Amino acid sequence: MIVGIDLGTTNSAIARWHDGRAELIPNALGATLTPSAVSLAEDASVLVGAAARDRQITHPERTATTFKRLMGTSQKVTLDGVAFTPEDLSALVLRQLREDAERHCGEPVTGAIITVPAYFNDRQRKATRRAGQLAGLHVERLVNEPTAAALAYGIVDRSDREPFLVFDLGGGTFDVSIVDVFDGIIEVRASAGDNRLGGEDFTAALAVVARARAGVPSDPASPRLDEAVRAEAERVRIALSDADSATFSLVWADRRYEAELTGADLEAAAAPLLDRLREPVLRAMRDCRLRAEEMSEIVLVGGATRMPIVRRAVTRMFGRFPSHVIDPDRAIALGAAVQAGLKARAADLAEIRLTDICPFSLGTDVADRGPQGQILAGRFKPLIERGTVLPASRVHRFVTMTPNQAKVEFDIYQGEARRVDANVLLGSLSIPVPPRPAGEIALDCRFSYDVSGLLEVDVTVLTTGETHQLVLTDDESIDPAELAARRAALAALKMHPRDEARHRALLARAERCFELFLGNQREFVAGLIAHFETVLATQEPREIAEAHAAISARLDQLERERPS
Ligand code: ADP
Ligand code: MG
Repeated sequence: MIVGIDLGTTNSAIARWHDGRAELIPNALGATLTPSAVSLAEDASVLVGAAARDRQITHPERTATTFKRLMGTSQKVTLDGVAFTPEDLSALVLRQLREDAERHCGEPVTGAIITVPAYFNDRQRKATRRAGQLAGLHVERLVNEPTAAALAYGIVDRSDREPFLVFDLGGGTFDVSIVDVFDGIIEVRASAGDNRLGGEDFTAALAVVARARAGVPSDPASPRLDEAVRAEAERVRIALSDADSATFSLVWADRRYEAELTGADLEAAAAPLLDRLREPVLRAMRDCRLRAEEMSEIVLVGGATRMPIVRRAVTRMFGRFPSHVIDPDRAIALGAAVQAGLKARAADLAEIRLTDICPFSLGTDVADRGPQGQILAGRFKPLIERGTVLPASRVHRFVTMTPNQAKVEFDIYQGEARRVDANVLLGSLSIPVPPRPAGEIALDCRFSYDVSGLLEVDVTVLTTGETHQLVLTDDESIDPAELAARRAALAALKMHPRDEARHRALLARAERCFELFLGNQREFVAGLIAHFETVLATQEPREIAEAHAAISARLDQLERERPS
């Protein structure tokens, strides 16, 4: 079976596509959430999940939590003198989930879809894949968490361009993403967030009030007391999701400390945190130029959205009620299982493609002329920009800079800095060219990049028609047949949209209209042609498809209005 896994900062969950629906798989304790916690027992055995989380208070030096935050860094976590990488710790959680699922379902896990935050960069994604491999999983693909949430909410059954806003408040992170379907492809249009805001912070705010009310002494030398107060405040905060009041009660050094706390207390204590929820929402909407009214659905994800104060804040922000019919802390795993079903080509699921966005920019180095005509080398020219929907292919034309230049060097970089030396060099191509005056030799350099990290660089020397290619992949162990299939998929993208038959047909139709009409209408058509040519030059498939549809509609209208 192929499973879907939400590898969360606080909790993880595993699910599968079974009998035509996504289904959570319980762990050995019968729970469908497994805390992302690892603890080393005194007999050197490893505890994972609730047993490990419960040792946070008693054995903090032997217990690790929230290691997802360290993914993609070289930081290690030391448990009882043993250093673990964040991948090692994540792998232990994944292995536990896998074993629990195999035991419960009685069949082996043959593949896994693992979710990652939309903002995870390449290093963090690779670390997640590695953790999966360490856990003995065949990682079919990584899926963005908001995409998974949208899949759980049936975004596939919606028509194009009905944006879902996914509001995910977990244990320690807050992520807002806007996801929609365009042309059968699910896209994350924008994502924003605050990676230092989550349920924990609400707990900490409530703990301050509880401590003061119950008169808990502050003993700076006792991290255990702090941890006990925190754990009890967390329990009270969760209880307040279903009741108006709850009792904070703690026994410490043979004394009991008690206080009655209400939802209003929590709301007052958390007011500054509630304010911080607004900015990322606004930023995400601004980034994709959509307004709150344009969201077809507001989806709540993450255990902390169970707090009524959070739900009210969201309702106020959007002027309507958010959707939470799916368990918010299990929606991502369920969505990953929908993707697992798609992967297994379940007959009951429609054909849908998932996309990822490029987490960094890819480009080459160029030289510019300075004000005195001097050559300024080492400038970065991005060809595929960060945020581009993958797979993508983009071409740019370069010309020689000096007379009788013998060759043109293309160094391939990943990064964002204006100077290439601050970016990561991935490879280079050296292209010999015939001696000619500066600017006379033109070369088309095309970058094609897919979701699995395969990059093809194709350079064509226009004067001679000569072509050169460089293929870069980050996965050496890749199966040759799979590589061939991926390369064939990329090859299909290597055409300038300007040359695509449907766009040429639209331009030809517009030219005919130009000939047919006079005056204002003729000028209007000229404007449409110029606009479409500009959009084609961007090579952005989505913008082009939208402009294509809009221009066809305008031409239809003109032709209808034309007196025959
Ligand atoms: P993550 O995505 O960080 O792994 P989750 O989505 O599982 O985390 O959310 C964990 C957070 O949800 C914790 O801070 C927990 O206290 C909070 N939480 C879970 N259930 C409730 C509840 N009923 N009321 C309030 N908070 C809750
Ligand atoms: Mg989560």
